[in-house]
Amino acid sequence: MSKDMMPMFELFQPTDLGGALDLADRFGADGWIMAGGQDSLDWLKDRVKRTQAVIDLSRVPELKGIRETADGVEIGALTTLTEIAESPVISGNFGLLAEAASKVASPQIRHVGTIGGNVSQDARCWYYRSGMDCYRAGGSTCYADTPQGMNREHCLFGADRCVAVSPSDTAPALVALDASMVIRNAGGERVVPAEDFFIGPQIDIENMTVLRPDDILVAIRIPNTWAGANFYFEKVADRKTWDFALVNIAAAIRVTDDTISDLRIAAGGVECVPRRLTVVEDIVKGSAKNGETAKLAGGSASRGATPLNYNHFKIPLLENLVTRAIRDA
Ligand SMILES: Cc1cc2nc3c(=O)[nH]c(=O)nc-3n(C[C@H](O)[C@H](O)[C@H](O)COP(=O)(O)OP(=O)(O)OC[C@H]3O[C@@H](n4cnc5c(N)ncnc54)[C@H](O)[C@@H]3O)c2cc1C
Ligand code: SF4
Repeated sequence: MSKDMMPMFELFQPTDLGGALDLADRFGADGWIMAGGQDSLDWLKDRVKRTQAVIDLSRVPELKGIRETADGVEIGALTTLTEIAESPVISGNFGLLAEAASKVASPQIRHVGTIGGNVSQDARCWYYRSGMDCYRAGGSTCYADTPQGMNREHCLFGADRCVAVSPSDTAPALVALDASMVIRNAGGERVVPAEDFFIGPQIDIENMTVLRPDDILVAIRIPNTWAGANFYFEKVADRKTWDFALVNIAAAIRVTDDTISDLRIAAGGVECVPRRLTVVEDIVKGSAKNGETAKLAGGSASRGATPLNYNHFKIPLLENLVTRAIRDA
């Protein structure tokens, strides 16, 4: 492939959802849905992926904004991360998501990057991003999972040929908040729990979500189940400026009389999907909210981890983040 010219594509800018769905249906796998373009444009400019047609959703009003509903909130997929971080509705009831959105990348990226794009972004593995023919790119090897492979950013759990991780900061927050994803295509609508929206390599090694080429993620719904709970979000990255999480943690906790009555907790950067830490949830539910419970919970978070050559450090990192989440939420 020539490296000196970005391959041509047709640009479509539909102004309503019906038009966008028609285009997604017409082009299927030959089209590329684009929201804020912060992930999409990298692929196209780096000449690593190409497409016949870019379907730019930025002019579709039905996909934008935050609406309160009878049982929670609905966030249009094209709502920017800045809008989410600054929304009084989200900060008031679902501060976990506001906090996670505020930790994505840089202010510039958050101003144009959308929540839909954030949860649908592709793997951040160096080898895959540089156009190498690994499993995820349809090939028959993994360059990261080798004795010399650069794998300090890669997974602790759920490896199946590919060892890439979920890079999104908002994804674990949405799993912890029990959100669901509203997906449409020309044939109709389906609503998928956030936990099932993200898929690992054992299900589909080339896609990180259940979205098919003719699908558009139209909105994300968050029920009131966790509204106003105690929340904890923390992201650890190599640098304090824009960077992806090595590990992030998102927890929603209900405390009654100093006892943890209910809890949902998920981590990013440790598996190809945001990992819901059900072992931690089971251990902690019904226990006193104190340092001892937090330490016990932290120790259990890495159960079953199979580190790669260079990412053993993620085990204590995950354990410490879980400990802090339970102690400080
Ligand atoms: C320098 C840099 C740093 C970054 N740091 C972080 C970080 O710290 N944390 C983090 O979480 N992310 C980070 N990102 C990743 C990402 O770019 C942003 O998170 C952003 O939110 C992506 O949103 P977008 O609207 O620009 O997506 P786009 O680039 O438009 O889309 C991303 C993907 O999602 C698909 N898509 C988008 N919207 C829809 C939809 N409604 N329906 C169906 N498919 C859709 C597109 O087809 C594409 O495959 C970073 C990116 C860059 C370039
Ligand atoms: S970790 Fe996944 S994306 Fe990276 S080289 Fe291996 S197969 Fe490819």
